[in-house]
Amino acid sequence: MHVTPTYIYKKLFAHFGPQQWWPMDRTYHQNHISDPRFEVIIGAILTQNTAWINVEKAIINLKEQKMLSLKTINNSNIDLLKELIKPSGFFNQKAIRLKSISNFLQETYDGNLDTMFSQSVLHLREELLNQHGVGPETADSILLYAGNKAIFVVDAYTKRLCNRLPFQVNSTSYDDIQYFFQNDLRSHFDPEKIVQIYKEFHAIIVELAKNFCLKRNPKCSICPLESICRYDQKSLE
Ligand code: SF4
Repeated sequence: MHVTPTYIYKKLFAHFGPQQWWPMDRTYHQNHISDPRFEVIIGAILTQNTAWINVEKAIINLKEQKMLSLKTINNSNIDLLKELIKPSGFFNQKAIRLKSISNFLQETYDGNLDTMFSQSVLHLREELLNQHGVGPETADSILLYAGNKAIFVVDAYTKRLCNRLPFQVNSTSYDDIQYFFQNDLRSHFDPEKIVQIYKEFHAIIVELAKNFCLKRNPKCSICPLESICRYDQKSLE
């Protein structure tokens, strides 16, 4: 028996409901006249190799210093920036990455995210992948959640799910998994809704992985996918 991403999405959405990602503090940005989408870009860098709870601490630090914007990050002292984002881990690398992407956005788009996101998704993805420390997952998170572009984010949790559910996906490569999800979801959902479906599905996969589909000792007996999962029948990651 095989299952499709659409089937899994519907089943998980019925269980978890809307997640309304990406979390951002719109009130802060209204009060400080900054673009909330930049918080997504900062978060996408800070969440690399760490749990979101650590990112939240770093974002609180940045907010307290009124540094949650492109301009302030670009003009900031790098040692101060490192100190503020320390809770997110790998802070030396991440400070350089934040500086680098802020500088790129300032230089290329004059800091205007409307101008940036008016470009095609393929063009932007290529540009983002050329930035220091930006891989496919970070680039696609920025494109989907900040840019509202129709591109599905694949992370370690998605790969784990592909390894455990009876999906017919060609390989475990990022591109193959992304194509597999997009191809199926696009053929089942209204194009006007696809961005929202991609946003919700990625967020729901994260919820599933955090609450049930743990790397070790997953809670299969209470998982909403228990009846269709093949976890017991195959070798594990
Ligand atoms: S049944 Fe277990 S292995 Fe399968 S998706 Fe659920 S938690 Fe993960």
